[in-house]
Amino acid sequence: MIMEKNRISCTLSSAHVHTDFCDGKNTAREMALTAYEKGFVSLGFTSHAPQTFDPAHCIDPAREEDYKAEIRSIQQEYAGRMAVYIGIERDMLSCADSKGYDYFIASVHYFTAPEGEYIGVDGASDKLQQYINEYCCGDGLKMAKQYFSLFRDYVITSKPAIIGHFDLVRYNNLILSLYDENSPEYTSMELDTLRTMRETDALLEVNTGGVARGYMKEPYPAPFLLKAWLEWGGEVIISSDCHDKRLIDAGYIQAEELLLSLGYDHAVRLSSSLEKYMWEQVGLR
Ligand SMILES: [Zn+2]
Ligand SMILES: [Zn+2]
Repeated sequence: MIMEKNRISCTLSSAHVHTDFCDGKNTAREMALTAYEKGFVSLGFTSHAPQTFDPAHCIDPAREEDYKAEIRSIQQEYAGRMAVYIGIERDMLSCADSKGYDYFIASVHYFTAPEGEYIGVDGASDKLQQYINEYCCGDGLKMAKQYFSLFRDYVITSKPAIIGHFDLVRYNNLILSLYDENSPEYTSMELDTLRTMRETDALLEVNTGGVARGYMKEPYPAPFLLKAWLEWGGEVIISSDCHDKRLIDAGYIQAEELLLSLGYDHAVRLSSSLEKYMWEQVGLR
């Protein structure tokens, strides 16, 4: 397919944005202003939900109501110009309630070691390698199996609006070369997991965060998974998982072109009107 040169993004929205309420660099107001200046029709804030074991990366439970109040205030400030939503990215291990939020993104960021230590899926590579050596018999594929099993169960039981960075486990595989991502063992594991998640009607996130930060060549999830998702009638949503206002729509055009090349003619975004449905389709051409 021949793509137009210099095409501009048609998504104009992100449903996955972090601020300094968690581990983002900017204030919520700075993020909103950047989105508005880019012509966004909608923006969803999704700070990491409170969790006790990794406070540096999530909302301080004592500030959760401040977070909601701040986003509500921004929502009113941009009323009629850009629809602003209040959400959270809720890790499987978060104890936080998703009630009181417009929606939540389900993600798996950690393994729990038997001693109670938390190991980041996309955290320090040496820590993850140590976890694999000690608890997965040195087998990276076994670690990936654990990840997808945990994620599948979490999505099935919690029924999120959005499945966040489905194959985040690839981040450390790029660094550690733990397994062949084209091997049938790995691809069938991913396909089986995604097929089960499809039963929930959640949106599958096309996450450009890794591309934006320069360590991934393509968004999560891998193209063959996006292709399968389309065949199963699933809907996708492009987001930047942005922690820095300068990257709020980084990788969007690449993601849109990838989806077009796979046969998608639309994606879903947060609705441009707070009065209508929360989600709307946006054509990709
Ligand atoms: Zn995440
Ligand atoms: Zn995120």
